[in-house]
Amino acid sequence: MAAKYSVSRIGAFGQCRLQYKYRYIDRLPSEMETIEAFMGSRVHEALKELYDLVKNRRIESKDWLLACYDELWEKNFSGSVKVVKKDLGADDYRKKGRACLSDYYDEYSPFDKAKVVSTEETISFTLRDGDQEFQFGGVLDRLDWNDREGMFEIHDYKTSGSLMTKEEADADIQLPVYQIAIASRWPEAKEKAGLIWHYLLFNKQVESSRTTAQLEALEKGMIGKIREIESCADFPPNRSALCEWCGYQAVCPEWKHLRAVESLEPNEYLKDPGVVLVAKYAELEARKKDHQDEIARIEAEQDKVKEAALAFAEREKVKVIDGPGYQLAVSVKEELAAPLKKEDEVRWRSLRDLLIAEKKYTDVSTVNNFMLMSRLRDWPKDLLEKIKAFLVRRVTKEVYLRKKG
Ligand code: SF4
Repeated sequence: MAAKYSVSRIGAFGQCRLQYKYRYIDRLPSEMETIEAFMGSRVHEALKELYDLVKNRRIESKDWLLACYDELWEKNFSGSVKVVKKDLGADDYRKKGRACLSDYYDEYSPFDKAKVVSTEETISFTLRDGDQEFQFGGVLDRLDWNDREGMFEIHDYKTSGSLMTKEEADADIQLPVYQIAIASRWPEAKEKAGLIWHYLLFNKQVESSRTTAQLEALEKGMIGKIREIESCADFPPNRSALCEWCGYQAVCPEWKHLRAVESLEPNEYLKDPGVVLVAKYAELEARKKDHQDEIARIEAEQDKVKEAALAFAEREKVKVIDGPGYQLAVSVKEELAAPLKKEDEVRWRSLRDLLIAEKKYTDVSTVNNFMLMSRLRDWPKDLLEKIKAFLVRRVTKEVYLRKKG
């Protein structure tokens, strides 16, 4: 069966390809539910319960909504929910969720600005590119029909701690993708629909909309992304702050060893072969640093002696200075040299432009790996393919010592 894409799936590919592979290709179960995700799910569920009744013209009280949330929390919470932030506990998140719902209720009751069409609806639609089709899906938090404005409203609840700006809303892809899905059932939604994000922690609504042309461009962009994903053969880890919220640390090469040894007793920990190697490497690095500091001190002193020797040679008009067992030969050469870019960028660029204009640049440039790799990022794909035929695969193995934490 063809893979089903979603906005979060495409986002996961951009965030960490290895995590994407674990989740969507290998289908490994994630062993972690974070408290942020847990709280978000309970808030969504409570709002679904509320709006399912609103749809049937029954308006429940704020106390009813909060009791519903508390019950959902109690029923689902377990010790396996991970609290990543050290200064917060699960109860802080529970209170945050309550505050979100309380503010939301005050802001929107009696919920009569529009008619509820669906809540937490699983939507799916097909993106077509020639004769190829890609299945797309997602869960739409709430779809309303605004009969006064004569348009659909696509609502999304967010419980995250960062507030989206208007610019970010105008560039976001999630709700416009849902608009495309809605338009496959109600074509008028392609021309006009409200995209509304509810940032519940801030009690703030952020709105945006898309033109038909923007939706068509988005469809093309999504197809491009899917093609990139489907042709990807390399899934490296991308270590970042978001790893703290990743449920694959136990298998990820970036974290696997740390997770395997962190629960060992201190004496067992110190006997682990990996731990032994790191301790030895760190000890040698410290010894190296002591010597490097000493060498730097000696070199600084030597530079002062060199200055004095050059001054002596100039004053005494000699080229060789005699000493016990050694002599210092003084050489002063003046020659033209190309400026270094870091010393004088304007002069460096002017020289390069002159050589290019005079068609001499290739005579003085050479195939340099560093230069080539930095250019490859910008050059067009077809040139890249031609160049790849000449590249050799060189494996460089190195270890870097870094501080933990
Ligand atoms: S732990 Fe980090 S690097 Fe590893 S798979 Fe997860 S997000 Fe990627």
